[in-house]
Amino acid sequence: MEFSILEKIISSVIIHNGKDSITKFIWHGGEPLLAGLDFYMKVVDFQNNFKKDGYRILNAIQTNLTLLNDEFIDFFIKNEFGVGTSLDGTKELHDKNRCNSFDKVFKNLHYAKSKGLHVGVICILTKETLPHIEEIYSFFRDNNIDFTLSPVIPNSRYSEFILTTDEYYIALKQLFDLWYLDENCKIRVNPCGSIIQSILLKGINLSCIHSENCLNHFLTFLPNGDVFPCNRFTDYEQFKIGNISNMTFTEILKSEKRSELLSRTIETINACRKCEFRQYCKGGCMNHAYEFYQTIYERDYYCQSFFKIFQYINEKVNVSINKAKRQI
Ligand code: SF4
Ligand code: SF4
Repeated sequence: MEFSILEKIISSVIIHNGKDSITKFIWHGGEPLLAGLDFYMKVVDFQNNFKKDGYRILNAIQTNLTLLNDEFIDFFIKNEFGVGTSLDGTKELHDKNRCNSFDKVFKNLHYAKSKGLHVGVICILTKETLPHIEEIYSFFRDNNIDFTLSPVIPNSRYSEFILTTDEYYIALKQLFDLWYLDENCKIRVNPCGSIIQSILLKGINLSCIHSENCLNHFLTFLPNGDVFPCNRFTDYEQFKIGNISNMTFTEILKSEKRSELLSRTIETINACRKCEFRQYCKGGCMNHAYEFYQTIYERDYYCQSFFKIFQYINEKVNVSINKAKRQI
């Protein structure tokens, strides 16, 4: 990406969000460390001009860690970058689908942690890893690594590889029970933690999947300046919102395509209208809906998994709250 385009993106987003909001830039796609440390130093220098004026800015990076070195680690700590990676559990499980990269990722993850850099992990749940929830949980707990269990993206063209909604629910339930009943556990486990948060805070959930419409909070910019609602839609030209090289940020925000995508709310999804967990779930991910039903005006493919896990965790949380009340 030409740096002038990047400057335009950074400045327009920060100014649009204003000083009362926090603007977060997430660097991902391909392997973002390939851009080199100089690139991120330039980005931070540019952002600092706005910080000096009182704007609040955060950065996060999703990397496979293979290029992580001391310079990157020091830079990420100094500039408070959130760092995330993908690790699908134990070496045996991870290496099956990720080119035998476990040793390198695990070594670098531990090294980063030993130097004080927190690294969050996304663990993808597939048909192959499904029977190993207990193993996966023990692995992350014993290694003191926070993780998010995320199901493989549903796609109707490859339905033999995707999880059924029952399979995903049973995996989540198993994970929740392991974590919730484990008094010695010190790690954050999502989506279990974020669902509890959503129940306790009456629908405030930090996960994009359960936000009113993720487009209110996210936009994806490609190196050529193209703008999409989310990186999961970048293969679909019909989801392109515009291009920052020949449009202003205001034009992008007011574009017909963004307005059309913003019209997906829980009110426009028939199946969600009477759902008792609509306040927490909000219809789920529009990409999960599109990949499976070829329309965004549908509920998330994993609807039934969400419904059952919200129901299950809600009951557990209420039991704990009532027990605590009786002890007061
Ligand atoms: S499309 Fe799905 S994954 Fe992408 S930002 Fe929206 S909710 Fe999140
Ligand atoms: S659980 Fe299903 S029906 Fe209920 S709000 Fe979520 S997607 Fe809609």
